[in-house]
This record gives sequence, structure tokens and C-alpha cells, in this order.
Amino acid sequence: MGDKGIIRQRTLASTVACHGVGLHGGERITMSLRPADAGTGIVFRRIDAGAEVPALWNHTVNATLCTILSNGEGIEIKTVEHLMAALAGSGVDNAIVELDGAEVPAMDGSAAPFVAMIDQAGTVTQDLPRRAIKILKPIEVTGQGASAALLPDHGFSMSFEIEFENPLIRFQDMMVTFEADTFRAELSRARTFGMLDDVERLRAAGLVQGGSLKNAIVISGDRILNRGGLRYADEFVRHKLLDAYGDLYLAGGPIIGQFRGLRSGHAHTRMLLAALFADPEAWCMTTIADTAGMPAIAWPLRQRVHA
Ligand SMILES: [Zn+2]
Repeated sequence: MGDKGIIRQRTLASTVACHGVGLHGGERITMSLRPADAGTGIVFRRIDAGAEVPALWNHTVNATLCTILSNGEGIEIKTVEHLMAALAGSGVDNAIVELDGAEVPAMDGSAAPFVAMIDQAGTVTQDLPRRAIKILKPIEVTGQGASAALLPDHGFSMSFEIEFENPLIRFQDMMVTFEADTFRAELSRARTFGMLDDVERLRAAGLVQGGSLKNAIVISGDRILNRGGLRYADEFVRHKLLDAYGDLYLAGGPIIGQFRGLRSGHAHTRMLLAALFADPEAWCMTTIADTAGMPAIAWPLRQRVHA
């Protein structure tokens, strides 16, 4: 074959399911991850509403607390970012995500339970080459004291800076260059976090109905309310990287370039992808050579073999 040496697409080897509570709606949800044909991409299917929505930036709605997909006719899927991060970090190009409700289960507030599901299902290569989005010129969006940018680079890397008044967080920054296991090792276990005051305010407004110490780090003043404390000393900035990584996968493939987030959130990453794809000179689609000397890209060059 002419495409020998080119990374090929992958899907799941079998179907896996989980049950959990939606962070925002609080309802119990069953979610299945199913194999899909090459070229399908990640597609969400609401079996309770008979609707499908592709996991793409141009099918998102403006939101700040989480990333929400919409079919444009009122059918939404909330909080897709942690699952998208797990799929990206596990090298899954094609999958059907089946849900019986409007939200991806929160699980433990990180991407680790979804990574475990994908490991349980296993992955297989498919006939089409993987398509990546190569950044050709810098794109930046700013607003509300924050910014997000994509810059040309040989591999994929991310950096993030956060700054909070809270004495436990203050200033944290991190830069990650992605290699085979980077997402799993460095980011996948970092949990969502919130301030107790905010959680109480949001709950009174009918939001975060499913939020609890089981699926988020809750901070009160200079105290972590969760027993067991933090999973990483800088878990907060790692979770922001995880969120941005998941949101960037809504580009429709891995990105070859550098992401920089400065106090940014879901809305900035969404605007960033819109700005990128609005400029035909800012990006191109490319395949990825499977050579040992190739710089690391957005996800594993070497897939794990699951016993
Ligand atoms: Zn998150």
C-alpha cells in the first residue's frame, strides 16, 4: 500500500458502558462507547431523543461552565470535554458515544474513568490514514482578562497559566510536550474544582445539581474539603490543561502546533477553533508519518497493547 508508514485511524475494539450522574443536571445517565467506521469521527447519539451530534467545534453552543454540543434543534449533550480528552489521549479517531440523557456522566470529575473504559474496550487500526490539523500561522483570541492561542510547531505542546485569589491556588503554570503517554500520565487524573461559595451559588441557580465531593475538588478558603486531598500538587492547572485538550479535539482531529492558555476557559477554546477555521491560511489537513524520528504529536505514536 502507498500509505505504508502513515499513522492510521483507530476505533474501539468492542463496546463498553458506564453509569453515572450528570454534574449539571444531576440525573443518572448510562453511556456506551461503541466502535465506528473509519472516517466517522466522534459522534454523540442521544438514544432518548433519537438525535446524533458530531463532536465538532461548529456544533457547540456558547457556555462557560462546561462544553455543550447541540444539534441546533434543542437537543444538547453537556460536559463532553473530559470524555473528549480521554478519546484524544487514547488515540481514538472514530467512536459512537451513546447516552440516554443530556449529559456525559461526571464520574470522578477527571478523564481517568473514561481512559479505563477505552482500555477495557481496546482499540484497533482502520483502513484510512489519521488526519491531523496543522497550524500554519498564529491565531489568538482574548477577552475578560484571558487569552488562548495556537501557534505553528513541529509536534504538539500545551502551556497554561491560572491565577486565582484563593490562597490554595494563587498562580500555577505548566507546559507539556505530548508524547505517547503524556496525557494519561500527566493530565488524565486531574479533577474538576470549584469554590464552595460558587458551588452553593450555582446550586441555588439550578446548576451543578450532581456536583459532590465524589466528582469535584471543593475548596473552602484555604481548605480542600475532599478527604484524601489532591492527586497532584498542581491539580488545578493540570485540570485546565485537560479541559483545553478535550475541547481542542473538537477540531476533528489531533492538532500539530502549540496551544497557550492564559486564564482561559471553554468559551475561549471554542472561539479559538472558530477563529482558526475561519482563516483558510491558518491551517491545513495532513497525515502523520509513523517514523521513529518524528516529533511527538497530539497522541500516541505507539499504541499500548492491552493484555
Ligand atoms: Zn473540566
